[in-house]
Amino acid sequence: MPRNNLVNQVILILIDDLRAAHLFDLINKGKTPNIAQIAKNGISSQNCITSFPSVTFPCYSNVIIGSYSGYFPKEGSGTPMYHWVGRSYPLMEEKKFPIIRNYGKGNHLLKLNKDIGPNCQTIFEQAGEGNFLSSLNLINRGSVLIPPVEYTSSSIFKGVEKSFIDPQSLFPEKDVPKVAVAYIPKTDDLMHNKGFDHPEYIKEIINCDRYIGSLIKTLKNTGYYDSTAIAIISDHGNYKSEKMYDIAPFFKECGFTQYLPKKGTGDFDCHMGGLSFFNFPGENWYHHPTLEQLKKFAPEGVSSNGLNVFDTLWKIPGVKAMYYRDNNNTPDKGIIYLEHKEVETGKKFTDIIEYEGHGKNQKTKYVPDDKDFYKYSKNEESARLIDGKSHSIDEWLKVTNQIDFPIVVDQVPRYFKNPRSCDIITSTLGEYGFGYDHGKTVASHPYTHDIGIKKSMTVPFIIGGSPNVPSLELPYCKTTDMVPTLLYLLGEKPHYSVVGKSVIG
Ligand SMILES: [Zn+2]
Repeated sequence: MPRNNLVNQVILILIDDLRAAHLFDLINKGKTPNIAQIAKNGISSQNCITSFPSVTFPCYSNVIIGSYSGYFPKEGSGTPMYHWVGRSYPLMEEKKFPIIRNYGKGNHLLKLNKDIGPNCQTIFEQAGEGNFLSSLNLINRGSVLIPPVEYTSSSIFKGVEKSFIDPQSLFPEKDVPKVAVAYIPKTDDLMHNKGFDHPEYIKEIINCDRYIGSLIKTLKNTGYYDSTAIAIISDHGNYKSEKMYDIAPFFKECGFTQYLPKKGTGDFDCHMGGLSFFNFPGENWYHHPTLEQLKKFAPEGVSSNGLNVFDTLWKIPGVKAMYYRDNNNTPDKGIIYLEHKEVETGKKFTDIIEYEGHGKNQKTKYVPDDKDFYKYSKNEESARLIDGKSHSIDEWLKVTNQIDFPIVVDQVPRYFKNPRSCDIITSTLGEYGFGYDHGKTVASHPYTHDIGIKKSMTVPFIIGGSPNVPSLELPYCKTTDMVPTLLYLLGEKPHYSVVGKSVIG
C-alpha cells in the first residue's frame, strides 16, 4: 500500500482544445455546474500554461508523462511535434531513409507510445501497483485500453463509469482502476472545423459537463466518490488566424521538392500553420544541415548555384520570426537564434536563447537584441529575468504566466534538442494560417492552435471530487504539474524524468 495517500483512485479527463478563459466563462455563467463544483471544492487554476509549440502532440503526451521533449535518447519525450522527420536516431524501423511521422495520417497514432521513448513514463507507469485504464486515451502505455463503443464523448465517459460499476469485466484483479485517463477528441475537431465561438463547440463542452455529472453519480452509487480525485485539463487553447494563404505555388517557384521517405528523393519537408516547421537534408536526410549549407542550398528543382534558405523563407507572407539552432549545439549546451523583423521598417534583429542541462535541471538564458521579440523587457516582472543569467522553467513561469510567450524561452531549446526537431521554425503570430502539409495545402480553416501567444498556451487545471483534495486556487501552474500532483494524492513518487511539480505538499 502506498504511504500517506489522500485518495485511492484518480480519474484524469483531458478535453482537447479548451482555452482556460472559455471554460471558466462557462463556469461563471452556470453552464457547467459539475465542473464548477469540482473546481470550487478542490484545486483550480484558470492560468495553467501548456507546452510550446501548443499543438496536440506534444502537449497532450506531455500532460500524461509530466515532462517535455528533449534529447530523448537520454531524457524527455521523443515526440517533439505532430509532424517530424526521423533523422539519425534511432535508425527508424530499419527503413532505408528517415521516416516522416505525421500523427494525422493512417496508423501513425498507433506508434505514439513507442515514439515517446524509454526515458519518460506515462502516469500509469509511475503510479506503482494497481489497475490502469485508458478510455480512448492514446498515450496509454502501462494501461488497459478500452475503445469506446461509439466514437462519442458520451461513450468515452461511459467507459470510465463501467470500470467502476463492473471492474471484473476489465481487470482480472477485479479492483477499480487506480488511474483512469479519458481523452475527449471531439472538442478539437469542432474547434478546427467550426470555431471556438460556434454553438456546437460550446455545446460539446456543456455535454462533457453532463457526462462528468453522470460519472460523479456513479462514483457516489458505487461508494468510490470520497476516495477518488477527478481531474480536468486540456492540451492547449486556441486562436483564429486573420488570413489563410495557399503557399504551395511559392515552394514550386523556389524549386523545393517534397521529401519522399520511401524513395529518398526530394529536398524539403514542412508542416505549416501559424507556426511552420521546415526540414532540409544536410549531407543527406540523416543529417541536419549546417547554417552554411542552408545559406547555399541547391534545391533539386533549380540549376543555380544555390539559394539562401533563410532569405527565401523570409519572403513567405506574414513571417515575423524565425528560429534555428547553432551548428555546435550538443544535448547539454547550445544556442538557438531567434531572428525577428520590425513590421514597419523591415529592420532585422537577432535574439539568442542559450541552454544548458537536462529535464528538470535545464536552465535557459534569454539575450535579446536591441528589441526583444517576446517583449519581456516591456513587462516589469519578465524584464527581471533578462539579467544575463540562466533560469529554470519555474523561474520563467513565475514571471511570464500573465503575458504572451509564457515559458517559451524554456520550451524552445527543449524542442530543438530533440534530434527529430526541424531545422527552421517560422511564425506569423497568427496573421496568416497556411494549412500546408507534406507538399500540399490541406486545410482552409482559420481556427487553430500552435503559436506561443497566451490564449493558445493557457488551459484549465482542476482537481477535485474527494473531500480529501485540498481547496486551493492557484494563480498559475503548468500542465506538467498535473501528473506529479495526482501521484502525490496517490502517495506515489514521480519518475526522475518528470519536470512538473506537485502543486500541493
Ligand atoms: Zn489538441
